Amino acid sequence: MLALTGIGALVTNDVSLERGKLGIINNAALVVGDDDKVAFVGETSQLPRDYLGNSIDLAGRAVIPGFVDSHTHLVFGGDRAEEFEARMSGRPYSAGGIRTTMAATRNSTNDELVANARRLANEALHTGTTTLETKSGYGLSVVDEARSLQVATAVTPETTFLGAHVVPPESQTDDYVALVCGEMLQQCAHNAKWIDVFCDRGAFEVDHARAILSAGAKLGLGLRIHANQLQHGGGVQLGVELGAASCDHCSHLSHGDITALADSHGATVATLLPTAELCTRSRFPDARQLIDAGVTVALASDCNPGSSYTTSMPLVIALAVLNMNMTCDEAVWSATAGGAAALRRTDIGHLKVGAQADFSVLGAPSHIHLAYRPGVKIIDAVFNNGRLVAGSLR
Ligand SMILES: [Zn+2]
Repeated sequence: MLALTGIGALVTNDVSLERGKLGIINNAALVVGDDDKVAFVGETSQLPRDYLGNSIDLAGRAVIPGFVDSHTHLVFGGDRAEEFEARMSGRPYSAGGIRTTMAATRNSTNDELVANARRLANEALHTGTTTLETKSGYGLSVVDEARSLQVATAVTPETTFLGAHVVPPESQTDDYVALVCGEMLQQCAHNAKWIDVFCDRGAFEVDHARAILSAGAKLGLGLRIHANQLQHGGGVQLGVELGAASCDHCSHLSHGDITALADSHGATVATLLPTAELCTRSRFPDARQLIDAGVTVALASDCNPGSSYTTSMPLVIALAVLNMNMTCDEAVWSATAGGAAALRRTDIGHLKVGAQADFSVLGAPSHIHLAYRPGVKIIDAVFNNGRLVAGSLR
């Protein structure tokens, strides 16, 4: 049992409280029960006396749900610092750089890949990410994709098969799509919850993406799609049509794309990845357009060694507010409840009674400071399943 009192602003994401999108309770208390789930949320003055004895006073600091980062690529070898430096010197980003990481990943042992993925997952945990999704996609052969997914299971249950990241240099596109839909999927599916395709310029066409996602669905995998990052195309509408949980990137959307997402009534989430735009000096998508149309928006880091080598969800939130026209409330919701929606999880992303007790204590009086103080270390302590796993309450 753990009882926290004196919480300056507690973000619950409980709309039934009728305290805005974030369900904010001021001067709040939060209790974690012996089952490691949230047992009480409310004002400190309403805390049942039984809990008062061992309570910890947070002296006005804010508490938010743990971030749900629904889009990362943590299974890879090497890094691409040289490519980054070249790009910052004027060369545009294309999907081809993935092949550099493919070679380094194939040359890494499973232990090396696990150690690197764990390092990054731990880095994410220290900035408040208590759940993350991660993908294969740098092996691009049956054996290397299969072991990439095995590595992914070492850091999260939210694993995604992304054999269709790019076509490896030794293959022709049609042959490779057949391999992904056939033997590669067979060898990977048991370690994957999701299947994903990079449907964009330099990657896969809509027809190939359709074949790959349909093959995954037949084996019971949930669908996700990298769509409309680099240019306009049919990826987003394909994702909605096939019932994907999320269309990710959404940087180049037509009116029809936005309507399709809105008409899914939240079944297909638009996941925006602003650090990918930041790190490639690209134009940020306009989240305002999506939200005003009624689309459910998630925010994620896209942590990968090429186009977004960061795990920081506070940075993602700051960019969403400062560059994508989101309000502070919307950005924090999208980084928590939005991410949970993109993973079709109802047990995380909020702090209602019964939720998994995943939350962060901020070194600030409200969630607004996440965007208001960009780049500052603002996560004081992180709790996962009711246990302190990063930082401290001092
Ligand atoms: Zn990605």
